[in-house]
Amino acid sequence: PVEDVTVRRAPGSAPLITAADLPPTTHFVDGAFVDAAPGDVFDVIDPSSESVIAQIPQGSTEDVDRAVSAAAAAAEAWARVVPKERSEILHKIADRLAANADLLARLESANAGKPLSVSRDDVDGTIDTFRFMAGALRATTSMAAGDYVENHLSVILREPLGVVGVVTPWNYPLLMAAWKIAPILAAGNTLVIKPSEQTPLTTLKFAELVADLLPAGVLNVVTGRGSVVGARLAEHPDVDMIALTGSVGSGKAVARGAAETLKRVHLELGGKAPVVIFADANLEEAAESLRVASFWNSGQECGAACRVLVHESVADKFVELFVAQVRELAIGEPGSGDDIEIGPLVSKAHFDRVVGYLDRAAQQGIRVAIGGTALAGSGYFVAPTVLADVPDGAECSREEIFGPVVTVETFTDEDEAVRRANDVPVGLSASVWTENARRSHDIAARLDSGTVWVNSHLVLANEVPWGGFKGSGYGRDLSIYALDDYSRTKHVMHNHSR
Ligand code: NAD
Repeated sequence: PVEDVTVRRAPGSAPLITAADLPPTTHFVDGAFVDAAPGDVFDVIDPSSESVIAQIPQGSTEDVDRAVSAAAAAAEAWARVVPKERSEILHKIADRLAANADLLARLESANAGKPLSVSRDDVDGTIDTFRFMAGALRATTSMAAGDYVENHLSVILREPLGVVGVVTPWNYPLLMAAWKIAPILAAGNTLVIKPSEQTPLTTLKFAELVADLLPAGVLNVVTGRGSVVGARLAEHPDVDMIALTGSVGSGKAVARGAAETLKRVHLELGGKAPVVIFADANLEEAAESLRVASFWNSGQECGAACRVLVHESVADKFVELFVAQVRELAIGEPGSGDDIEIGPLVSKAHFDRVVGYLDRAAQQGIRVAIGGTALAGSGYFVAPTVLADVPDGAECSREEIFGPVVTVETFTDEDEAVRRANDVPVGLSASVWTENARRSHDIAARLDSGTVWVNSHLVLANEVPWGGFKGSGYGRDLSIYALDDYSRTKHVMHNHSR
């Protein structure tokens, strides 16, 4: 079924990007855009219009090997760059991105279908990540020194690992690249990054924009499939660590690939964030906040507030308030206005996946409070959806749908709320809504999630870590915890008795 909600269309006379805005569409290796080894290309699609906006090489293992050699050759010299100088380079990268913020936002919206407000927020976050890491690296260089054994001076050093392989997803192409690249460079490593095959443009643009700021080989980009380029990075004997943001399945594949060389693995995987709303919560505030936290980036967000557990006594009232908020969401192509809140899903394949979940929920008789269907016309638009009275264990409330779909189920007491909130294989983020301080502390402590918000959801800052428990992976993005992840610790002990 197709719902008749209006999708606002952009005027054809004002395209978001022109050919001049595109980056070179090939691998970036050893400081330059290079010809790919002969092979296939794949189409990069604008998910609003379904038109092809670029073609990108399907990288081969030879392409990866070339990039890893460049990164390995550059590693020693980059590791020796003193913190002040590395910090200055990261600040210059931030300045360069800021000077091109509008271009980066438009490119991201054209490639990923994001509303411009979301892309602009991503670019702001990207710049702030580089600035945070530029400062943090100077404050965290020395670790400790002291005499812990008589006549022996211990010096504890933080060292870079060497070459880091990075694999990023399509939902925040530039931002997720920044969350890896900034701490990896700050900690003194070099890297090879593989962007998602669907959304490579802003990562290539990033390389183009900062090429003259970094020594050749420090940053390399190879485009292509996860099963070829990503898998080779995970297995490569000269890659010292592999960091992936993506689905649980890809995380398992990367961890298996990395096992043979015992390289360090950093995984930011899926989520299915529970939103636990107690009867004493401010329901108006919760409904208003979830309008953003559930539907940001059209719900293609690993921390999205997608699974509401609400106390049975206030469930009807909450659904009514929430549906009223959802009804007001502005849906459209990114180029159709700055107020757009919901864009298309990223690809046909993902659209089919999300619509499949909606169809199966309908077959199971689950109540659609609003939405529930695809939207008419070109592009991969799905109506913002709230599924209510969802029974315990339903597929739509257990699996990550990764679209504009929120399930609402009820609970009777705190123990049931905690049990059901934790009863999924992932544990990235969660929120608790209550006016009771004892309850907010207690429930936050009992939730199996790397982040727990109280009376809020989806608010992040560069100072605080982001990462999950259980199937959501291990390792932390952002904050000094990310710097720790991309560093190794060495103890040097001097005998000074003689
Ligand atoms: P995906 O796993 O399909 O792809 C992510 C990346 O992994 C892509 O670059 C892909 O090419 C690559 N890949 C796929 N198979 C691989 C393999 N065998 N070896 C190496 N690399 C491989 O995920 P996606 O659909 O692009 O992104 C959505 C997923 O990402 C969701 O599950 C979402 O929750 C997760 N995500 C998590 C976070 C977080 O911070 N935890 C942030 C954003 C997205």
